[in-house]
Amino acid sequence: MTALSRSPSGLASHERTRPLSKGKVKPAKDLCSECGLCDSRWVAYVRHACPFLNQRFETMELETHGRIRNLDNEKELYFGVHNRMLTARLKKPIAGAQWTGIVSQLGIQALKTGLVDAVLCVQQGEQDRFTPVPILARTPEEVLAARVNKATLSPNLEALEQLSGSGIKKLLAIGVGCQVQALRAVQSTLPLDELYVLGMPCVDNVSRTGLQTFLESTSKSPNTVVHYEFMQDFYIHFHHSNGSKETISFFGLDTPKVKDIFAPSCLSCFDYVNAGADLVIGYMGAKFGYQWLTVRNTRGEKLLSLIESQLDILPVDSSGDRHSAVQQGIDAYNKALKLPIWIASLVAWWVKYIGPQGLEYSRFSIDSHFTRNALWLWRHHSEKAEQHIPAFAKKIVSRYRLPS
Ligand code: FAD
Ligand code: SF4
Repeated sequence: MTALSRSPSGLASHERTRPLSKGKVKPAKDLCSECGLCDSRWVAYVRHACPFLNQRFETMELETHGRIRNLDNEKELYFGVHNRMLTARLKKPIAGAQWTGIVSQLGIQALKTGLVDAVLCVQQGEQDRFTPVPILARTPEEVLAARVNKATLSPNLEALEQLSGSGIKKLLAIGVGCQVQALRAVQSTLPLDELYVLGMPCVDNVSRTGLQTFLESTSKSPNTVVHYEFMQDFYIHFHHSNGSKETISFFGLDTPKVKDIFAPSCLSCFDYVNAGADLVIGYMGAKFGYQWLTVRNTRGEKLLSLIESQLDILPVDSSGDRHSAVQQGIDAYNKALKLPIWIASLVAWWVKYIGPQGLEYSRFSIDSHFTRNALWLWRHHSEKAEQHIPAFAKKIVSRYRLPS
């Protein structure tokens, strides 16, 4: 039994009525992912709900999906509890979306069909394309205006503060893993009749300042970037405001410079595939141009049914062998190597045509990030590593040789 189920509203009255002090209370300190919970009245639950103070994957999976993942099943070990997976793209892609816009289209349909009264999503700042502005969208136009990633830490859960008195009883929340973990932990205390959660995989997020360092050390024209993605072909694809495109090999990254830009929360996160969402939509398990959908439970099926007829669907595929590339990556990261550009291009070409594809690419990325993050935690927060690294990540990490 969890602290919350023992006592969903069992806080002392002074804790329930404590005034909000936006931006001031961040008990996870340097590990805080700015998920926004602490900028809402649900800050009262922070010690229980914050994913960086209290790791609760098993409870979350049990409460949300009715069971925990089976660690002896390779697919569940990596991708969490799920009913099915598919890859798909919208038959009519949404212009300006991150990929083909399945996430936005689903939010729009959820409103149009009356499945929900509002969609928690992230619009952009008026002055800056990458500054996130979380909102409770009540119209399809507002959901559409939230399309495309704001590739920075986003305080999504601060929007919960607007629920009281809004008349919203059915909500679709769109978010990344840390936001969803905190949301699930306080779900039973929200003034809602229905909550649907549409998750996205997420890794290596950054503060707005960190993003600027990354763009300046990687792109030829950092100030005109309007969209970018680390794609399955092992290149970063930048789109510029004049419509031009730029690609940079992962292996050509200036590792010594970008090594330290990632938020500490992301360097200690093991929720890459968003274990608590009903439906997860990313790209890394799909072939280039398609999106990757993981349906975790019956609520996820209900969400997907809203747009399934609008999709071109392909089954998930997998090929190649990730293991040696992951091991070499661990050693290169540890030495913060920067490859000469011609070697980087050669490696990228080789990996693109012979390397892991489909689900094997996802496993490559999960292995690479879990091993790096476990190392980071052991080195920087050894006191919490044992409790914080979940069993599924420990099993994955134990398959590799890590430097001491
Ligand atoms: P769109 O229709 O363009 O909608 C994008 C949605 O993202 C909007 O609803 C908006 O509310 C939401 N959003 C935007 N910025 C944020 C933010 N900072 N935090 C929370 N929500 C936000 N997929 C992978 O497979 N592997 C990854 O490593 C990966 N990393 C990601 C990192 C971040 C920070 C984000 C936001 C997404 C990441 N994704 C990743 C998901 C992927 O990039 C696409 O967002 C997803 O496939 C949906 O594409 P779409 O065209 O359907 O989205
Ligand atoms: Fe609060 Fe979220 Fe930061 Fe944890 S990660 S301290 S819940 S804002």
